[in-house]
Amino acid sequence: MFRVPTRVIIGPGCRNQLPELLISLGAKKSLVISDGGVAAAPWFASFLEVCGAHELDLAIEPNPRHSTIDSLANRAREGRFDCVIGIGGGSVLDAAKAVSMLLSNPGSIRDYEGKNKFPHPALPFIALPTTCGTGSEVTWVSVISVHHEGRKISVKGDLMFPRFALVDAELLASLPAHLVASTGMDAMTHAIEAVVGKPSNPTSDALALEAIRLLQCYLPAAANQRAAMGHIVSKEDRKMALEKVMLASTLAGMAFGNADVGAVHCLSESIGGVHDLPHGLLNTLLLVPVLRYQQNAIADPLQMVANALQVKDGDLFGALETLIAGLPLQQWSELNIPTSTFAEIAQKSETNGSNGSNLFDMKASDYLAILEAM
Ligand code: NAD
Repeated sequence: MFRVPTRVIIGPGCRNQLPELLISLGAKKSLVISDGGVAAAPWFASFLEVCGAHELDLAIEPNPRHSTIDSLANRAREGRFDCVIGIGGGSVLDAAKAVSMLLSNPGSIRDYEGKNKFPHPALPFIALPTTCGTGSEVTWVSVISVHHEGRKISVKGDLMFPRFALVDAELLASLPAHLVASTGMDAMTHAIEAVVGKPSNPTSDALALEAIRLLQCYLPAAANQRAAMGHIVSKEDRKMALEKVMLASTLAGMAFGNADVGAVHCLSESIGGVHDLPHGLLNTLLLVPVLRYQQNAIADPLQMVANALQVKDGDLFGALETLIAGLPLQQWSELNIPTSTFAEIAQKSETNGSNGSNLFDMKASDYLAILEAM
């Protein structure tokens, strides 16, 4: 099975189509959700003008918390909105997606952990991604932190896909290089896990392999002023590279939205739940160690990944490590994750909803072995 019910519009400047989309939905009063970092971007004020007269909420933190979602939804329930617009990274899009669902369903976001637990369709939700990693603009899932329990929950629903995604790479112009790098590698992780996982299928493979190819070609130039070979990247080349990386992120979202993710995400979501660290960065640092650990079980799909990356000497892991090493990113040791929390993280990884999608039957002891080796 493959489906992307979201209508996806891709291209620089496509955010300006928002007014006509609102008219097509018959929307009269929209709630715009974003965060302080995005609102500080130079393009934000003119975006609000494009939106028209709507209400704005900027209260979202990275790794959005259930308490934030619940209080935003409670405030918004008074507002009689007929549409939700999310403009931001995965944190904002997941928050806006969750709020759009809670505006037509009662209670707390925690009541809906799992798949299709809510009865009423979410309010129409329009997603505009401003990072190049999560793919949330085309997925049915909202990932929310239950901070006091040190875990992230996934709320998934066929009735919660964004109605429209406006994928406009011009919004990446203000994204710092390290976030282009880490969110771009998040997209790479989505694409690779979609290919090597149990639920992979020919359509998701096609999208994921193209995303992998685009990211390898264009992420270095998108994330750096200098290309891999050392010369300065021109403004035009960087703009084009950002467009390709943004496209890859959405393609990877469509792929994993239909084929799931695997052990890298089981670990990164568990670490993110316990330690509130950036999702894309964790995926980047965990990607090669996890693939290496599972390599015998995933040899065939890994060969497809190697082909997409045009690995010449057969060293797929080396190629990925070289790509990552050229990006402006923190190292694992700089995250200072206490080893005393490894057992808890490993246990949570085994119970993650995506653990069953691994071809290799991962137990807590396998996750612990990976963490200890790192
Ligand atoms: P993010 O949304 O947390 O944003 C990181 C930082 O970048 C924030 O401070 C934000 O203000 C800033 N920022 C974002 N866009 C900017 C821009 N264009 N200019 C300047 N600053 C900008 O980062 P993310 O990696 O996109 O999202 C991570 C979240 O997404 C996690 O909570 C993760 O669990 C979730 N996620 C969801 C899905 C899904 O399918 N729903 C998939 C993967 C990850």
